[in-house]
Amino acid sequence: MQVLTFSTIGDLANFVSYEVIKGIQAFTPTPQKPFFVLGLPTGSTPLPVYQKLIEACQKGLVSFKNVVTFNMDEYCGLPAHHEQSYHYFMFKNFFDYIDIPRNQIYILDGMAQNYQEECMQYEEKIASFGGIDIQLAGIGENGHLAFNEPNTPFDTPTHLQNLTANTIEVNSRFFNSLDEVPTQALTIGLKTIFDAKQIIIMATGSKKAKAIQKSIEEEIDKACPASMVQEHPSVVFACDIGAASLLNK
Ligand code: PGA
Repeated sequence: MQVLTFSTIGDLANFVSYEVIKGIQAFTPTPQKPFFVLGLPTGSTPLPVYQKLIEACQKGLVSFKNVVTFNMDEYCGLPAHHEQSYHYFMFKNFFDYIDIPRNQIYILDGMAQNYQEECMQYEEKIASFGGIDIQLAGIGENGHLAFNEPNTPFDTPTHLQNLTANTIEVNSRFFNSLDEVPTQALTIGLKTIFDAKQIIIMATGSKKAKAIQKSIEEEIDKACPASMVQEHPSVVFACDIGAASLLNK
């Protein structure tokens, strides 16, 4: 496990975007594995990284033509055109500005008729591309990864998740009122995340400090889902000074 602290969010975004660019550039498509597989989060934290990746793509420093992406989660009941859906977020903040073919973008369908089937097919799709090469993630104030709330078993695949009161309240900043926030979401599971070849968890701001401290310095505990990654062979925590402020060293 690598823990890196950056003095500015710009430095953090430079590092994370460079890791992604390095991964894509080092990848050579083969008939067995034609695509580099990138797992992507939504939220405020990854926005500067998406900006850097857009800039790099527009300057011709990286291309997403051989990349497939899998988003981590989506609210139940929000159609793709809803401004708070994660579909909308991803196109508006990233996909509309890079050269990725639309049919290489995968996002869970929060309007699916059968959630269980939707989740199963998503897992199968990820597996069909050989698994996730780099999984980018934010972290919740309660230690969640994607929408895997505290006490989600570590071996959980993509599934339907009831959101906790804390998550609903934190995310209500994007909605007109608390009542408008969906109470359920589809999310890749903790097992899906753990199976990625490399995981990069980004955290900015002192509101994340407790979750970061628990994830890195306390025992692995289902109550803090992100602590699971302590056993992962290739995980990086990329924090700013605020998020790292409760770490012992
Ligand atoms: P944030 O969300 O990036 O908006 O803080 C992260 C998360 O809840 O996982």
